[in-house]
Amino acid sequence: MTDQKKAVVSGAGLVGCLWSVFLAQRGYQVDIYERRGDMRDSTFEGGRSINLAMSTRGWKAMEKAGIRTKIESVAIPMTGRMMHAVDGELTYQAYGEEGQAIYSVSRGGLNRELMNIADESPNVQLHFNQRCRGFDKRTLDLHIEDTKTKERRMIQSPLVFAADGAFSGIRESMRRTDRFNYAQQYLPHGYKELHIPPNPDGTHQIDKNALHIWPRGHFMMIALPNQDGSFTCTLFLPYEGKQSFENLQTDEQVIDFFETYFKDSIPLMPDLLEDFKANKTSSLVTIRCNPWQYKKQILLMGDASHAIVPFYGQGMNSGFEDCTLLDALATKHNEDWSKTIQEFSDTRIKDANAIADLALRNFTEMSDKVGDPMFLLRKKIEKYLHEKYPTDFLPVYSMVTFSHIPYSEALAETKRQDALFDKILAIPNIEEQWNNGVVDQVFEVWKNK
Ligand SMILES: Cc1cc2nc3c(=O)[nH]c(=O)nc-3n(C[C@H](O)[C@H](O)[C@H](O)COP(=O)(O)OP(=O)(O)OC[C@H]3O[C@@H](n4cnc5c(N)ncnc54)[C@H](O)[C@@H]3O)c2cc1C
Repeated sequence: MTDQKKAVVSGAGLVGCLWSVFLAQRGYQVDIYERRGDMRDSTFEGGRSINLAMSTRGWKAMEKAGIRTKIESVAIPMTGRMMHAVDGELTYQAYGEEGQAIYSVSRGGLNRELMNIADESPNVQLHFNQRCRGFDKRTLDLHIEDTKTKERRMIQSPLVFAADGAFSGIRESMRRTDRFNYAQQYLPHGYKELHIPPNPDGTHQIDKNALHIWPRGHFMMIALPNQDGSFTCTLFLPYEGKQSFENLQTDEQVIDFFETYFKDSIPLMPDLLEDFKANKTSSLVTIRCNPWQYKKQILLMGDASHAIVPFYGQGMNSGFEDCTLLDALATKHNEDWSKTIQEFSDTRIKDANAIADLALRNFTEMSDKVGDPMFLLRKKIEKYLHEKYPTDFLPVYSMVTFSHIPYSEALAETKRQDALFDKILAIPNIEEQWNNGVVDQVFEVWKNK
C-alpha cells in the first residue's frame, strides 16, 4: 500500500510498544503518540500497580521482540491455584502438566521494558503527553492534542495502529462511521487492589508459586506474587447488594467483612484499612466492535478492539497475540497492508469475541466452582484423560493458556467438554470409581461423536 515505510501507533502501552518493535524490525519509521508522560521518568505518577499473568501466547510475542529471557528472569512461575476456604483450609490444584506454569509479571515493569526496546530502535520516535483524539473521516488525518498546552494539530500517516486501550480515541471516531458495530458491557462487579507486604527478611508470606484465590460464590479475592516478596491482591465484589462495595463504607464494616469472609488474609495485610480507603474501586468492562479497520489504513489492536474482563488472564496475552498474528499476515501479504489489515480484521474478531465469552464464564469458575468438590474431581479426571489420551483430549484451560489454538476453537470445545462431563459426573459414585474404566467408556463414545 505504501512504499514510505511509515506508521503511527497511538498508545505506548503494552500492545502499542510491542507492535512498534515489530514494525521497526521490518524497517518502518514509527511515531508513537502517548497520552501520558514517560512512565520511565522518576517523576511519573499514575499507572496501575498491578501484576499480570503471562502465558504461552504472550511468551511467543516476547520471544519475537527478543526480550523473553529478560522478562522470564523477573517473572514468577505460578504452577497452580491455591484456594483459601472460609475456615482457612488450603487446597492446591495444578494448572497444567508438570513443568507448566503461568507467570506473574509486573505490568509497569513490562511496559517500561517494552518501551525501552522500542526506544532503542533508531526507527521509533516516542511522543509523550500527546493524546490522539480521533481522525478525520475524509482525509484520515489524526487529531493530536498536547495534554499540557492543549494545543491541537493534525498529522498524516499512511498507516495507523490504534493501541490506545479500552477507551480508544481512534475507536471513538470509528463509532461515528456508518455500519460500525459497537457493544460495551460492564460487570456488576468492581475491583480494588490491596497489598500483602513481604516478611521482614524479604520472603513471601504465602506460597509464591501459586495464584491464590479466596472463592466466595459471587465475589472473590485473588493474589499474585511480586518480585519484592509482596503480593498484589485484587478484591472483586459487586458495586451494590448485600456483600458489596456500597456496604463497605466504615472501618467496622470493612473489618467485619474481612473477618467473615477472608479471615486468614487479615494477619497478612497490616495496612488493610488504609489500602482499602486509599485505593479506588475500578470497573470491569467487555468491549466488542466490528470492523476493527477503517479504509484498510487504520486498525484497532489490543484493548482498543477487544477489552475483556481479567478472569482468564488473557487481555494482555490476546493483545500480544494480535501482534504475532498481524506480523505473520504482513509477511504472508508481502507487506501489502491493505490485504493484511483486511484479513486481520476479518479473521481475528471471532477469536476476540470467544476469549471475551470465556473470560466472563471463568468468573464463575474462579469465584464459585473452584471451591466445589465436584469441580475439583472434574479437574482430576481432565488430567487423567489428557495423560491417557493426549492426542484426543486437551482441557480447555490448557488450550487457552498453554497453546496457540484459536480462542474460538477453545470456546467450541468448552461446550463439547461440558457435555462430556455432564455424563461423567452423573455416574453414580463417580468419586470412588472414576479411575476403574467407567470414565473411559463414556470418553470413547464422546470422542467418536
Ligand atoms: C485488574 C486487571 C487484571 C488483569 N490481569 C491480566 C492478566 O493477568 N493477564 C493478561 O493477559 N491481562 C490482564 N489484564 C488485561 C491487560 O491489562 C490489558 O489487556 C492490557 O493492558 C491491554 O494492553 P493495551 O496496550 O491494549 O492497552 P493499555 O495497556 O490500556 O495501554 C493503552 C495505552 O494507550 C494510552 N492512551 C489511552 N488513550 C490514548 C489516546 N487517546 N491517545 C494516545 N494514547 C492513549 C494509555 O495511556 C496507555 O499507555 C488485566 C486487566 C485488569 C484491569
